[in-house]
Amino acid sequence: NKTSSSNFIKNIVAEDLKEGRVQEIATRFPPEPNGYLHIGHAKSICLNFELADDFKGRTNLRFDDTNPAKEDTEYVESIQEDVRWLGFDWEELRFASDYFEELYDRAVLLIKKGKAYVCDLSAEQMRETRGTLTQPGQDSPYRSRSVEENLDLFARMRAGEFPDGAKVLRAKIDMASPNINLRDPVLYRISHAHHHRTGDAWCIYPMYDYAHPISDAIEGITHSICTLEFADHRPLYDWAIAECEMDAVPHQYEFARLNVTNTVMSKRKLKLLVDENVVDGWDDPRMPTISGLRRKGFTPESIRAFCREIGVAKAYSIVDERMLEHFIREDLKLKALRTMAVLQPLKVVITNYPEGQTELLEAENNAENEEMGKRQIPFSREIYIEQDDFMENPPAKYFRLFPGNEVRLKHAYFITCQEVIKDEAGNVVELRCTYDPETKSGSGFNARKVKGTIHWVEASQAVPADFRLFEPLITNEAEEEDKPFLECINPNSQVVQSGFVEPNMKGIAGGEKFQFFRHGYFNVDPKDSTGDKLVFNRIVSMKSSFDP
Ligand code: ATP
Ligand code: MG
Ligand code: MG
Repeated sequence: NKTSSSNFIKNIVAEDLKEGRVQEIATRFPPEPNGYLHIGHAKSICLNFELADDFKGRTNLRFDDTNPAKEDTEYVESIQEDVRWLGFDWEELRFASDYFEELYDRAVLLIKKGKAYVCDLSAEQMRETRGTLTQPGQDSPYRSRSVEENLDLFARMRAGEFPDGAKVLRAKIDMASPNINLRDPVLYRISHAHHHRTGDAWCIYPMYDYAHPISDAIEGITHSICTLEFADHRPLYDWAIAECEMDAVPHQYEFARLNVTNTVMSKRKLKLLVDENVVDGWDDPRMPTISGLRRKGFTPESIRAFCREIGVAKAYSIVDERMLEHFIREDLKLKALRTMAVLQPLKVVITNYPEGQTELLEAENNAENEEMGKRQIPFSREIYIEQDDFMENPPAKYFRLFPGNEVRLKHAYFITCQEVIKDEAGNVVELRCTYDPETKSGSGFNARKVKGTIHWVEASQAVPADFRLFEPLITNEAEEEDKPFLECINPNSQVVQSGFVEPNMKGIAGGEKFQFFRHGYFNVDPKDSTGDKLVFNRIVSMKSSFDP
């Protein structure tokens, strides 16, 4: 495994180790199990795991499961699968819910120290009294409750005596703090919701800003890395660690979250696409989820290389989606078999080829990687070519097939278009061509040259296949228009074409990746592909106008 390139967090870690502030570094990846992981999470996963790897430290996978209404075991499982698939192994699998008892005890400690109180204000009232950037907040009338009363009320909150929203536990910090996060933030709320792990054992749940630092400290995390939105929460993070008298003192560092052009990066919105059946589940190949990218055909190596390339910065930026595509092309270039697929078939009859005869032609499997060897492909009187590779009335500089023109069939012979067959509606349904046996590929023929080379598949043995071509589900432009999210969906986000692949591809397994001559890289869809019909997802087209 390559190590991550230098970044500001890595420099901090190196310095901490050098100065002896920490003996061993420990990081964690802390997803909330309320959806599937997306490419943004991949950045955080790579950052945390590779940082620990670089310094021989450890990384925990910790589920931040403090919001039972939105969480589910399905997500817990998919997240583990995705992290493993990316190639990472966690030291320990933990759940914030493992710490509910300790979190409760530490909250009791805060109450005893006069650092927390039970407040009866509604969420609305709390918002109204929190003040603004320029105005201090107002003390809650419940701020002066005695320790005894707070202990009693907090115990009764836990015992289930109060309905949702009736009371909260708040930190007693400073209602006039210039940092609004320190104006007596909520530590616990009441929620009579069933938790996917603790069931109905609890009806009060800790808030992220409280659960997170304490969980980090319990696990001995040294460097707690999160995204920039939490920079203003850092004083609260440090307050919780100090006031709860934690032995270990983790530190929080913030980096800029990943944004990618034309890519939805919010679990809430992605969930909406799933719930509204806009897509075929979280792993729909159009989804920017790890499972969607996997199903589309991305490899862990390509995603990790991408994350390494974009690096870790403190400043907001948006990464071009073509950057991710660049890395999958790079990864598959020498690995993928290069074969021929016809996405929109047009039948060609080679009139001077003997009827009933089939010959086998030799084709290299990857022109850039000889080690991949060669394969045999059948050729006969009837083949399919791409509809786009024929034009009845071509413009200048069109070098593919048109009446009277000669082209090269990749790995085969030169053919010349002699006749165009149309149906009653005037659509071209078949071409009659002749071939020149002298021009066989590999024979060294060079008496004349042709300008166009097209691909083809022998008709009698061709394997039927569907090809899914993708565009962004939602473009940045569409999202900027002032319309509801679901009305911004690109109607052409998936187009399916039905054609053929070479006969040697019969029975290939889901997840296998190919480069189809001129069409790009494709993955066998692991869910929808069957013995009777192969389904291919286009990972990326051939060309890139982008080089990072
Ligand atoms: P979303 O906004 O999509 O719901 P989230 O931050 O709420 O994401 P979590 O499950 O809490 O989702 O995220 C787990 C970790 O992944 C957090 O540490 C978070 O900072 C990080 N993360 C989430 N989105 C991104 C992103 N776009 N870029 C980098 N890191 C991210
Ligand atoms: Mg979160
Ligand atoms: Mg979230």
